[in-house]
Amino acid sequence: MASVRKFKAESQKVLNLMVNSIYTNKDIFLRELISNASDAIDKYHYLSLVDEKVPHQDEYEIRIEIDKEKRQITISDTGIGMTFDEINNNLGTIAKSGSEEFKSKLKEAEQTHDVDIIGQFGVGFYSSFIVAEQVEVLTKSPYSDKGYLFKSKGQETYTVDEVKLEKPGTKIILTLKESTDENDYDRYLQEWTIRNLVKKYSDYIRYPIKMEVTKSLPKYDEDGKVIEGEYEEKVVDETLNSMVPIWKKRSNEVSDEELNEFYKNKFMDYEDPLTSFLFSAEGLVSYNALIYIPKRVPYNLYSLDYEKGLQLYTKGIFIMDKCKELVPDYLRFVKGLVDTSDLSLNISREMLQQNHQLLKIASNVEKKIISNLEKMLKNERDKYIEFFDSYGVNLKFGAYDNFGEKKDLLKDLILYRTLNEENYITLKEYVEKMKEGQEFIYYASGKTKEAVMALPQLDLVKKQGYDVLILTDDVDEFLITILSEYDGKKFKSINQGDLGLLSKEEEEKFDSLKEEKKPILEKLKEYLKEEVDDVILSKRLSESPVCLVSGEGLSFEMEKVIERMPNNEKVKAKRILEINPKHELFKAIEKVYQSDDTELSDYAHLLYNQALLIEGLPIKDPVDFSNKMVNLMIKSAK
Ligand code: ADP
Repeated sequence: MASVRKFKAESQKVLNLMVNSIYTNKDIFLRELISNASDAIDKYHYLSLVDEKVPHQDEYEIRIEIDKEKRQITISDTGIGMTFDEINNNLGTIAKSGSEEFKSKLKEAEQTHDVDIIGQFGVGFYSSFIVAEQVEVLTKSPYSDKGYLFKSKGQETYTVDEVKLEKPGTKIILTLKESTDENDYDRYLQEWTIRNLVKKYSDYIRYPIKMEVTKSLPKYDEDGKVIEGEYEEKVVDETLNSMVPIWKKRSNEVSDEELNEFYKNKFMDYEDPLTSFLFSAEGLVSYNALIYIPKRVPYNLYSLDYEKGLQLYTKGIFIMDKCKELVPDYLRFVKGLVDTSDLSLNISREMLQQNHQLLKIASNVEKKIISNLEKMLKNERDKYIEFFDSYGVNLKFGAYDNFGEKKDLLKDLILYRTLNEENYITLKEYVEKMKEGQEFIYYASGKTKEAVMALPQLDLVKKQGYDVLILTDDVDEFLITILSEYDGKKFKSINQGDLGLLSKEEEEKFDSLKEEKKPILEKLKEYLKEEVDDVILSKRLSESPVCLVSGEGLSFEMEKVIERMPNNEKVKAKRILEINPKHELFKAIEKVYQSDDTELSDYAHLLYNQALLIEGLPIKDPVDFSNKMVNLMIKSAK
């Protein structure tokens, strides 16, 4: 008796899009189904080795059949099949449909009719409805004595019937839609179309993809001799794919196109990856690895539900999908796989965490990825910059994390914007270009490059012609603090402490000036005692009247970052107001100091607030600031 069931809500919507598809690449249905078949055989093979209930099979295969009369294509596999519950869970629902991101993309796709938008989630089995008006799935799992027939026309419902099936496995029968002027579905009934599609998308599949093909073969006479010039049509079984797993090939044997096709198919992306690394190791550990960096940052990379990891194979047998032990957190964006002969098949997820071999492989893979990135930085700068714009912040966190454990590994991969350079540079390049007599690596932080460039604190450094790193990411200053130096050169914020830019003579002159101006500075400090820790004369300013700097340790940028964190502790950077003794304004203040006390207090607050504004910090009392400003303007106009 047929049991009629409804597809889950999101699945219905996706089906709807597939059925009415304007999907640009209709061919993909075949690779999706073949990939599912191959996964199912992977699962079967693995279980047959570790679970007695799953009988051993000598040979596996995926078979494609074409029935022109019935307009059907059948794809069958000798894989794990599905139980009744699995049919409902796996085919009745889209696995990723729970996530909010999926729902919103789905909505977008429905409104714009742009199915490619949700293509990035991999619609797998449902892609059959791009070309088929009806899909039937005959399937049997070794864990059930019953077989089932799932049937659907891609509308709201599907049916599941019990049927008699002997062997485990799955057979998917697609009845193709009628061809129209715009869409030629009949071409999928042509042998050569299928052959080409398999070659293009599924060549690496490790199990034979077989099809009966008609071939024109030489005729033989009764004695078994070839009759010259005579041919006959014969139906023969042909394996369409070469079956060499792509990751077992040498990198010079594989084209970028092959690697890219494999990526899109396996990791469900609709775009080519930014780059791929194929490498292997032999010795203490031996493995083959194929690593990809997606062009587009995965939409949920920084959310809790993102799972990092690489696929793990042992001796060519698939073990698990996201082995998180294989990649450190800061490389969480890489996709790919590792195939090793060093692990037992029976390894469980729990045991993996302590497995020494696996940890060795992981650290080896990490180093290889880093060295490949270094190569890219050296030889393909533009591509590296594209990479860095997308993922650089991860490398920064990687270098900062765990008290800078990985800082030496990663410090040369981090790029910086600077005051003098138009393009990104590395620390190495900064140091190479340092001017004679320059002792420190200077840096300045702010929201954007433009904001930083406008900082008055840069005055003197600019005058010297020194370059300054411009830090705009939250993590930047924390990272600089952890690095502490590069190539023996210490870092120095243009905004903290003494910049060390004056000559000995100038220093002496400055010291005596400081003594001389002490009373007025003390007075200003008294007026501002609620706001700043100190008021001093500035060595770093040349054109601007004031600036606010922080003491050693916590900086203003760090203060802002910490403030944004949940449950932050109230930490404040030490505030120091610096006044430029060479500026006209200072002379004006001195004049006021001689004559009028209340006015000096107003000046002090105005100065301080100006410094706050320049620094991008909020003013405590904007109305008061404005009033004081207005008064001053009126007075000066009188
Ligand atoms: P995905 O492959 O991304 O998981 P699909 O929609 O393609 O999504 O398939 C959903 C699930 O249905 C698979 O994860 C698998 O469990 C099951 N499935 C699909 N095809 C087969 C098959 N040929 N044999 C066994 N199970 C299958």
